Amino acid sequence: MKMGLCSFCLKSGILCQKCLAKVKSGEISELDLKIARVLLSLEEKYPALQNVYFHKTIDTDRTLAIVVGPGDVPRLLGYGGKIIKALSEETGKSIRVLEYGVDDRKFLEDLFAPLSIMTINTIWLPDGSTETRVILKRRRGMHAPFDVKALKEIASRVRNITLRVEFAD
Ligand SMILES: [Zn+2]
Repeated sequence: MKMGLCSFCLKSGILCQKCLAKVKSGEISELDLKIARVLLSLEEKYPALQNVYFHKTIDTDRTLAIVVGPGDVPRLLGYGGKIIKALSEETGKSIRVLEYGVDDRKFLEDLFAPLSIMTINTIWLPDGSTETRVILKRRRGMHAPFDVKALKEIASRVRNITLRVEFAD
């Protein structure tokens, strides 16, 4: 696993001046450090993690989003979901994995996985602001496997978009 800390600091847990400055400035949060250490401890068991670039976490009440590098989402979701389960047990939160640097559509697809998106469109409000409306395909007999309110908060914090989420058959 790689991140914006040097690998020595990451492995030792003792931060050099340069890494310490990133933590002090808030570029890397305490929670980021915690998640990084969990990921690191899982590397031996799940070697695909070695190539994952970990950007940051976005923390909400009961949901934690983990932002990783391009192409890294499947590496975290693999192994039958065991990495996600370990992270969830460690934090007590439901985990979402998002990819850094993607367009809005890909971001939303990852955010709402495993539900599929039927439509995305922009709604213009009278005050000139916009909302992004996402219509998700409802699955019979299945509740949304995530907290919609938390996902709206994540979208707002990561992408600065206001979501309106609807379900359709
Ligand atoms: Zn360092």
